[in-house]
Parts: sequence; C-alpha cells; structure tokens
Amino acid sequence: MTARYVHGACAHIDPLAIAHNLRRLREYAGKGVGGTGPSFWAVVKADAYGHGLDHALPGVLAADGLAMTSVADAYRCRAQGWTKPILLMGDRLTAADLNDPVLYPLHLVVQDAWQLEQLERFSGASIPHVWLRFAGKLNHAGFTACDYPAAYARLHALFIAARVAGIGHLQHYARADDAKQLALERHAFTELTAGLAGHHCTENSAALLASPAIAAQTQWLRTGIALYGVSPFSGNCASAWGLKPAMSLQAPIFALQDVQAGEPIGYGGAFRSGRRLRIGLVRCGYADGYPRAVRDGCPVLVRGRKTRIVGRVSMDTLTIDLTELPEVRPGDHVTLWGSGALPVEEIALAAGTIAAQLLTGLTAQVARRSASGG
Ligand SMILES: *Cc1c(COP(=O)(O)O)cnc(C)c1O
Repeated sequence: MTARYVHGACAHIDPLAIAHNLRRLREYAGKGVGGTGPSFWAVVKADAYGHGLDHALPGVLAADGLAMTSVADAYRCRAQGWTKPILLMGDRLTAADLNDPVLYPLHLVVQDAWQLEQLERFSGASIPHVWLRFAGKLNHAGFTACDYPAAYARLHALFIAARVAGIGHLQHYARADDAKQLALERHAFTELTAGLAGHHCTENSAALLASPAIAAQTQWLRTGIALYGVSPFSGNCASAWGLKPAMSLQAPIFALQDVQAGEPIGYGGAFRSGRRLRIGLVRCGYADGYPRAVRDGCPVLVRGRKTRIVGRVSMDTLTIDLTELPEVRPGDHVTLWGSGALPVEEIALAAGTIAAQLLTGLTAQVARRSASGG
C-alpha cells in the first residue's frame, strides 16, 4: 500500500459494512441464509447516497436487484458487471434504452400516462417488468386511487399480449417514521390493490425497521439509507439495529494556532474563549459539504478522542479545540463523521438536518476511497 498524504477531505467507503447491513436487513425481513422472504432492491440512487456507485457496488453484490433513478446510473452498473435486475424509478427512457439488451433484466416504475403510452407503442425483443406506482400520501409521482385501476388494466392488456414481463404494485411512503400514519398508508394500498394480481413492493428502510413482520409479507423491499448504516429515524442511530456506517469522513489538520484568552476565532468573531486555546485547523468546510449550520461544540474525533468545533465552519476550514490533546500534530486526520463513536446521525442532528442530506451533499472535491474496516 502506498502512503499518500491526503490534502483535503476524504470519504472512506467500506463495502464490507454495506454487505453486513444487507445481511442484517435480510434477517429482519425473515430471510436468513437459505431462507425464504422478500427480495431486496438495494437503492443506489444519488450516487449510492453519496458513497460513490463504484465504491458501493462491491457491497451490494448479494442484493437481488439495484434500484436507481437515472438510466445513466443503470448503464454504469452494467458496465461494472452487474447482471441481476435493475429497477428504474421514474426516469424516462428513450426507445433506444428500452431496446438495449444491456439494461435487461429491466424493471420500470410506471408512474405517469406518458410512460403508459410509451409502453403501448413499444415492441422490442426484450420486454421489461413493470411496477405500477400509487401516488399515495407522498404525491411525488404515481397514479391516484382514481386512475390506478385503469392504468393497471392497460398494463394487464400488455401483459396478456406478452409485451411486459410482469406487473407489480409499488408505493413509497410519506410518513414511514410514524407508526400510525404508516399503518394508514399501508391500509390504503391494500384496499387499492385488492383483487389485482401482482407482487407488492412498498417497504423502504424505515418501514422495514419499524415493522419487519409486515414488511416480510411483501415480495420486494427497497432499502436505501439503512444499507449505508444510517438510521432512517431522527433521534436514534443505526447501531441500535446492528447496522454499521459505510462512510467515514476524514480531513487532515494542516496547521495549529494558539489563540489567547478573549480573542475571537473564525468569521464573525462568533466564538471567544475565556482561556488560551490550542486550535487545529482542519482542511474541510462547507465547500466539501460539511454543514455550516453546526454550532460550537459539535463533536469531532482525533486520535480516537472526542473534541469539538469552535468558531464558524468556513468554506474550506474548520477549527477544532486541541487544548486537551497536546499529542495531536499537523497531518493527523480528524474524523468528522462515520465511525461508531461519531455517527453521522449525531452531526445531522447538530446541523438541524437529516443524515441523508449530509451524505449526498458531499461535493465532488471530496475524494472517495474504498477502505475495509470490517
Ligand atoms: C429513495 C427511495 C427509496 C429508499 O428509501 P430509504 O428510506 O432510503 O430506504 C425507496 N423507494 C423510492 C421510490 C425511493 O425514492
């Protein structure tokens, strides 16, 4: 292994953690090794939730399919050697895409009239599997309860004519983190699809973890955030389910600064210490995607010990208190989130946002590296 000094922030991605999380989630869904239970779509949209598709793929090899929102990502997965099904959630494919055997086995989420018409016009050598999407309470895409039966009937006609390979039912919950609302959303879907043949694909990370026994009765799950070792619920961490964080964000200390008592640190002079402080300047800021919204005291880890951010996060620098850590030197790497001791959920809470926004908000200047922590 060549040692190379990393000049900026780096996200270390652990595919073994993702593989571990997938196994855990399968256990929750009642499908241990060799058992029966739902199949898993591993959701890899948004560049695998910011982890980088190429880095995440080795971790999801045991999934039954990959779900994503852009056809460009589907081609990337195929180029990386993924041969199992791909589920495209919402992208509009061209006829050339639909005809491209490379994309098959291909599953499409059908969520609007345009897509229905396209499928009715399409006749190619390969035929896609379709999932009809209910708008539900999310109302981002999909057919309303009024339009759903007619859309199903049109797809069913295509199925009879062997022009689609199968039809399933799909919904994406608006409030899977609220048990009562989740039950209502599930109930509405059960009513809507009663008597219509086809597998169900409704459960995301939150729904699966909230009620595994119910999720286990569906045929395909779509899990994203939990695969990356992050809790879908605010206020708790994924370690509560035995999930491991797949990303660790680190950045080097590039200089030290002694700041006298009473002197301000950072833009706006927003922080002032009552005593002399030894400050570490860390090469990471909001241009990397680190949230500016965190307050003084937000934790970081260095040499295995916790310390805190003092002063405002700036574009490419953040400042940490090293007064009690005299052994820390320039060149040492600071963990900003992602180890067991510093979950990204905690930083998200400090920043007033959700972990998924932090993960997907890392910018292109943050290097992604594969690293296996086991
Ligand atoms: C993002 C997404 C998922 C995955 O949701 P998680 O909460 O990350 O598990 C599932 N289905 C659809 C339609 C999505 O957009």
